[in-house]
Amino acid sequence: MTTSWTPNGASGSRVKDAANDDAPFSVLRRITRNRPAPAVGEHCEMCAEPISDKHQHVVDVESRAMMCTCRPCYLLFIDRNAHLRYRSVPERYLSFPDFELGSGQWDELEIPVGLAFFFHNTGMGRTIAFYPGPAGATESELPLAAWESVQARNPELAEAAPDTEALLIRGPGAERPRAECHIVPIDACYELVGQLRRVWRGFDGGQEAREQLDVFFDKVSRRSKPVPTAAARRTTPEANIDGTDVAAPAEGNGPA
Ligand SMILES: [Zn+2]
Ligand SMILES: [Zn+2]
Repeated sequence: MTTSWTPNGASGSRVKDAANDDAPFSVLRRITRNRPAPAVGEHCEMCAEPISDKHQHVVDVESRAMMCTCRPCYLLFIDRNAHLRYRSVPERYLSFPDFELGSGQWDELEIPVGLAFFFHNTGMGRTIAFYPGPAGATESELPLAAWESVQARNPELAEAAPDTEALLIRGPGAERPRAECHIVPIDACYELVGQLRRVWRGFDGGQEAREQLDVFFDKVSRRSKPVPTAAARRTTPEANIDGTDVAAPAEGNGPA
């Protein structure tokens, strides 16, 4: 792949919205297909085959753009140990039953709202945090020392795949004495932030945003399996990123 384009969504708080901005994909489409560009959301953005509303996504690691893909294209990029520019977004949800985060530690992360997503960006070589708000996803300059101390206390957080999975952390609060942490597919995070943006009121989101968050956390909790222990990780081959049969798409898969 020698084609280059201006990275979309690579800077600031901009999060790729595949439905509204397909500029980065037009080049790829031209080199893969000579037919006119199809409408986004109806065709695979790698090979232009028709896809249903419910489909999977592949992340362009360099530009951080997310592409809607058909199943065969998705399967090309699931090997998390390969050095690939494109990476399929895993479908798994994991919980951390022993997650430890004191309110002091949450405050040190300098997240102004009650929850945030953390993911490792290969291009930037660091972990980035983003959180919901009225303008969509806002990126935070994560204080690295504070984040490293969270990681040191919870070494199993390293299970999250770079670029394609996020750690969703809800900090401790009045109605929640313990912090909560899950590994979630990064496309599900962007979908949630998009939903919250439409209902967010005031500084903390307001009633409707809180209700949507509770619905989301219920869904995540139901789907989550406990994160494998360090010992189990050493003995389990990582052949399959979602722990399921790759030929059978998971039911109730995240966003379209
Ligand atoms: Zn395809
Ligand atoms: Zn899509």
